[in-house]
Amino acid sequence: MSPEQLLAPPVTTLPTLRAAVTGLPAYVPGRRSLGADIAALASNESHYHPLPAAMVAVTEAAGRMNRYPDMAAVELRERLARHLGVTAEEVAVGPGSVGVLQQIITGLCDAGDEVVFAWRSFEAYPILVELAGARAVRVPLDDAEGHDLEAMAAAVTDRTKVILLCTPNNPTGVPISHERLEAFLQSVPSSVLVVIDEAYVEYADTGPDSLVLYRRYPNVCILRTFSKAYGLAGLRVGYAIATAAIAEGLRRTALPFAVSALAQKAAVASLDAGEEMAARVSAVKLERARMAAELAAQGWKLQPSQGNFLWIRADDQLLASLVDAFNAAGILVRAYAGDGLRITVADPASNDRVLRLLQAKAA
Ligand SMILES: *Cc1c(COP(=O)(O)O)cnc(C)c1O
Repeated sequence: MSPEQLLAPPVTTLPTLRAAVTGLPAYVPGRRSLGADIAALASNESHYHPLPAAMVAVTEAAGRMNRYPDMAAVELRERLARHLGVTAEEVAVGPGSVGVLQQIITGLCDAGDEVVFAWRSFEAYPILVELAGARAVRVPLDDAEGHDLEAMAAAVTDRTKVILLCTPNNPTGVPISHERLEAFLQSVPSSVLVVIDEAYVEYADTGPDSLVLYRRYPNVCILRTFSKAYGLAGLRVGYAIATAAIAEGLRRTALPFAVSALAQKAAVASLDAGEEMAARVSAVKLERARMAAELAAQGWKLQPSQGNFLWIRADDQLLASLVDAFNAAGILVRAYAGDGLRITVADPASNDRVLRLLQAKAA
């Protein structure tokens, strides 16, 4: 026998991934900025530097990174409870709101159970649902780029465990109205958990008062994040507000210590810096309005966005031409084949580059 034959074990079959994993749609992350003149407008991040108070909190916490963080995130949950007017028992935190959403789906769905959501919406939804072995039920958006709540209610079956609503919707920017959301909650079984994903709520001038609905309908779960307006995308922290029983279940399904002490401290400091954050959000909203007005004048027909991004519905021919132009200009944006293009609203100089490019494309 040769030495290779002695060392190599006989290989008959190799480890295989579950079919749910090999069949997953790949999550396409926003491309990263590669240089100073590249505008990163693909991931709806905050273009501002971290809040000074968050920097101080992280620097302090870094000196204790040999220790595990507080697994129960007591300080952050109590601070959030005070901020929101709920109890800490009704708050569950996780590594980004995507992390919390994974806990929600794995905590509520057995194999073959159904999760209903609008499409197109947030790309992570089908991935998390299918990974859990549940079935993704996509309900097309209406003609105004919003959730078709009647069709979503009609899609509920006795296998439906969770409904995901995204307001304002990523990537279209369209919110759900409070009245329509309340009518929807009255029409779906109270045994179905209705998750209201409000990743962009800080930027929204209109939309539901989800906390009011949560108090009226115990099957509501609100999902929020520090990744967008609060500018902590790189630290991974988000949270759910749900009944104490559901929130307790989410805390049980959490990966231990998934939210670092740095993230917990930065989140608390950011809540304390609410006015500074609000000023930043106001500036982005002004830029959003400026861009929307200018694009309308250029002849683009866009739905008003309540997020920190704009949505251009485009067939694949227009999409390819826009993507080429943005790539050539060094502006990273997010293209969705068959649907359109999402552009993050950022600093005035980057926004001007977007407006100039789209002016040329509109002409
Ligand atoms: C960005 C985003 C999130 C937040 O993700 P994190 O995991 O908190 O960074 C959640 N939902 C939607 C719709 C988003 O666009």
